[in-house]
Amino acid sequence: MQDFYDLAIIGGGPAGLTAGIYGARSGLSVAIFEKQFPGGQVVSTDSIENFPGIAGPVNGFELAERMKRQVEEFGAEIIAAEVAALEDAPDNGHKLIRLSEGRVQSMAAIIASGASYRKLGILGEERFWGKGISCCATCDGAFYRNKNVVVVGGGDTAVKEAIFLTRLVKKLTLVHRRDRLRADKVLQDQLFALQPQVEFKWDSVAEEIIGREKAEGVVVKNLKSGATETLSCNGVFIFVGFTPNSELVQDYLETDENGYIVTDQEMATSVAGVYACGDVRKKSLRQIVTACGEGAAAAFSAQHYVEKRKGTLYEQMFSLWMGDETKEVTYHANL
Ligand code: NAP
Repeated sequence: MQDFYDLAIIGGGPAGLTAGIYGARSGLSVAIFEKQFPGGQVVSTDSIENFPGIAGPVNGFELAERMKRQVEEFGAEIIAAEVAALEDAPDNGHKLIRLSEGRVQSMAAIIASGASYRKLGILGEERFWGKGISCCATCDGAFYRNKNVVVVGGGDTAVKEAIFLTRLVKKLTLVHRRDRLRADKVLQDQLFALQPQVEFKWDSVAEEIIGREKAEGVVVKNLKSGATETLSCNGVFIFVGFTPNSELVQDYLETDENGYIVTDQEMATSVAGVYACGDVRKKSLRQIVTACGEGAAAAFSAQHYVEKRKGTLYEQMFSLWMGDETKEVTYHANL
């Protein structure tokens, strides 16, 4: 690890790795800080079938591994470290990246720190987390072969993971707080076709997870009737959305009320030279392909910020062809 890089990328999921590919290919010195294995949530995804150009499902770990190899081939450095904070360096206009051990400076920074699984905040959840409660079917599904599991949630993740689990478990009960699923129609159809192995508890919430040494049941309340019942099970999988990993910039740049980082369409945040992409960013569609697209855009913006500061910017790059006139791009107002 060096003391200084042109571009520091925080997070090594698809957004960060794509930003790394584009940043390194444009000639910048690039460091990607990732506390776990590069790939982010993708690593624990069993099969991905909507990434263009890869017909037939691809395993998430394999896709992440390919992205990692590609970014390293272009010369970006992947550093296994947790970033505690990002801030302005005191005296030279650079960015200061505080690591859990040590610090680094960069000219520009891209935040691609993703999001973490949201918890329910109910009784028994903390106690049995990792002891019968999981948020990763690919990682933990095998522990429940021929057993009964409860899945909580109704979005894409819950339904996708539930479909995966049906290959292993005897019975799966999906608990959802509404009377229909939020998930993609294609995924819903696949899950509905798996009845009666899959049973649905509609309009219901998990109130408590009970057990002795590990989770053994979920107390579920029907929101319409008010009735409660205990679903006896061997494991509980919770997929109720994500919270953005934006604590490291909480007091530094603009976020929305849920902590997602606000950017313009060029991925520029409210702080000059800092860009954000992927699941940590405020937006409506969270897919691998959108994360990658945003990573490329963020790196493009960062490249121009760095070149402008170094005095090597090829100014014409800032002009867009707009019909019959060439218009100066104004979105780089934060350069
Ligand atoms: P999500 O879309 O936010 O869905 C979260 C689900 O959990 C919703 O059904 C929600 O219920 C429920 N929920 C939230 N808080 C709850 C609580 N306290 N108690 C009970 N239920 C609760 O999250 P996600 O499914 O993880 O997906 C996140 C993003 O990744 C989405 O943009 C999704 O499209 C994308 N994704 C895509 C794929 C794919 O294959 N294309 C796969 C995974 C994820 P309500 O519906 O009532 O709000």
